[in-house]
Amino acid sequence: MFHWLSNYNYDFALAAIPIQVILLLFYCSRKNLPIHSSKSFLWVMVANLVMTSFDLISCEMNEVWTGFPLWLMYIVNQAYFLGFIVRGWALFDYTAAECHGYSAFGKHLSRLMHIPCIAVVVLILSTPWTATIFHFAPERGYYNCSVYPVIYYCTYFYIAASLLSVFVCWKGIDMRLKVSMLCYNAILIAGILLRKQFENTLVTSYFSILAILFIYLSAQNPDLYRDKKTHLFNTDAFDKIGREYLLSDIAFHCIVATVHNYASAKALYGQQQLNRSMEIFGKWMNRSFPNYNVFYFGNGDFLLLSRGRVADDLNRLIQSLRGHFEHTWTSPQIEVPLSVSAMILPYALFPREISEANDFISYIFGKTYVENRRGNLVVSERLSGEFAREEQIENALSRALQEGAIEAYFQPIYSVRDGRIVGAEALARLHDPKLGFIPPDEFIRVAERTGDIMEVGRQIVTRVCEFLSSERPEQLGIQRISINLSPAQCMNDQLAAELSDIIDRYGVPFERINFEITESSIEDHYLIRKQMLTLKERGADFSLDDFGTGTSNLVRLLDLPIGFVKFDRNLVNSYFRGDANFLPDLVRMFQKARVRIVTEGVETAKMLGNLAAMGCDYIQGYYFSKPVPPKDFMKYLRSGHAQQVAGELRKGLPSLAAPAGDPA
Ligand code: C2E
Ligand code: CA
Ligand code: CA
Repeated sequence: MFHWLSNYNYDFALAAIPIQVILLLFYCSRKNLPIHSSKSFLWVMVANLVMTSFDLISCEMNEVWTGFPLWLMYIVNQAYFLGFIVRGWALFDYTAAECHGYSAFGKHLSRLMHIPCIAVVVLILSTPWTATIFHFAPERGYYNCSVYPVIYYCTYFYIAASLLSVFVCWKGIDMRLKVSMLCYNAILIAGILLRKQFENTLVTSYFSILAILFIYLSAQNPDLYRDKKTHLFNTDAFDKIGREYLLSDIAFHCIVATVHNYASAKALYGQQQLNRSMEIFGKWMNRSFPNYNVFYFGNGDFLLLSRGRVADDLNRLIQSLRGHFEHTWTSPQIEVPLSVSAMILPYALFPREISEANDFISYIFGKTYVENRRGNLVVSERLSGEFAREEQIENALSRALQEGAIEAYFQPIYSVRDGRIVGAEALARLHDPKLGFIPPDEFIRVAERTGDIMEVGRQIVTRVCEFLSSERPEQLGIQRISINLSPAQCMNDQLAAELSDIIDRYGVPFERINFEITESSIEDHYLIRKQMLTLKERGADFSLDDFGTGTSNLVRLLDLPIGFVKFDRNLVNSYFRGDANFLPDLVRMFQKARVRIVTEGVETAKMLGNLAAMGCDYIQGYYFSKPVPPKDFMKYLRSGHAQQVAGELRKGLPSLAAPAGDPA
């Protein structure tokens, strides 16, 4: 066994040193997040290593101090004390940076927090001349001086300040960090208490390496902030950096770049090849934009971030993006050609809250392709305004859904054969106290993005059932009410069960309900067909909505249990403009397939007469009525307007009844 000079027990310190060296090497071998807490953590580890090593060295050398020059003895002991103090301060600095305590304390208080450390450092450095902390005397060698206890007071102070910043920022810290911060501070306190108990054992370094391990595992392991496939920074990394920059008013700007053929390339080349392409593209981005940190957000979405505003070299940056991404991006190392769209996101447009900034970025990812096609490479006030509006709608929608305030308006559907109104389409309406009327096109899109669409669907079905059971419109000849289902709803395999539950609860016969689906709902043919058959078995029917807006695969469409097809308003309008002369052929084709035809957007007597003569079975449009609240719809049915129109139609259409007034 090695023979130590002093009678201190070094076991704990000796065990801590290699762990600290390994952690330090591992940490420094990677590129760490360019934020305050990464630097503080490095300070913690270096200070801890200095403290632990010099604790051991100084204890040994102090035993034989006469064998060394006095200046060296001072330096060795000072190094230990400096390591000790700086470690305490750096742990606080790390905690405050990590939980954003500095922005909570404010500039002045934050500065004051560093004073104890600076003061004690000055005392340590001056102790050879002032004999405040420690000294060497000819007879007894090393001894502690009167001010020596400040070393401990200073450390207590920083542990207290750490805990204070955790509690001040409690709400903003996530659970994992909270636990880690409380634990490592508790460990430090335990270390100090035990050191007092076992004067002759160097235990402090053992407790500080435990604290460091806690930090490393919970928040500082570089792998936590890397995407596994591309080895680029991940979204968690962006979260941390963005949060710090926004809170500390550090200006920065971003480039969002998205591979918009990601999904099709994945289908064509497979996930593995695509992962490799993303990795190579990521590396290329790192090389081509050396002043930027590159993040991978998954699914072909990349973000580049650089400090400073972009204003000075905006044009150069635009040119460079154009140059790089005008054509598909390829590399000799990969097979997959990547179509990339990119936009510059200036600092001024960033929302100040990180979660909102994240939402904004995903919004921009979704817009980049279209904006590039329009020639826009810089995110504008307009886009950020549109995003703000979507956020407002999102809030309004979630309020309305909580209060059950989504309304259903009804628009009559006229049967040419019966000469009267036989149905209606239920259309969702949202009136917000602040934003006023929000068109369904807008809030349905938001609901699809947020996942609220299922609840919108439930509320509309509920409104329709309430209407059917309270107003009894079947007594006025209403056979079915149509309810829109959006593609996002159709992808949920609980749809049929959920809707049936509501309809059953009201005891409404399924024969009174018709669901409108669009072609984009049929992506998962098997899933949608199964749900449709379940509902059809109970008596509900289906319309294919918006026919003429997509690229139809008629064979696949007609394999579904569809009773009606609805010609889209644009298709009908094109016919009347003279652009879609094939409309009569389409009508005949559907007649042959025994699918009945509803035409939408009929606004004039001329349109009505023509379409009726062509063989369309049902007519819907402002000519009869705009969508109106349930009571107004009942009033409209009683007004007999449709029967009057039918009379005119039968007479040969010369002067159809005047279109209904605008009851909406
Ligand atoms: P849609 O299913 O194609 O509904 C028909 C739209 O055309 C309605 O717009 C209706 O007011 C409008 N319209 C009807 N006749 C005429 C006309 O003669 N001229 C003109 N210019 N427009 C006419 P609205 O109510 O704004 O709804 C827009 C879209 O929002 C709907 O298109 C549908 O896709 C969606 N939507 C509405 N309610 C719901 C709902 O409850 N669930 C789902 N998933 N989507 C809904
Ligand atoms: Ca519809
Ligand atoms: Ca439609």
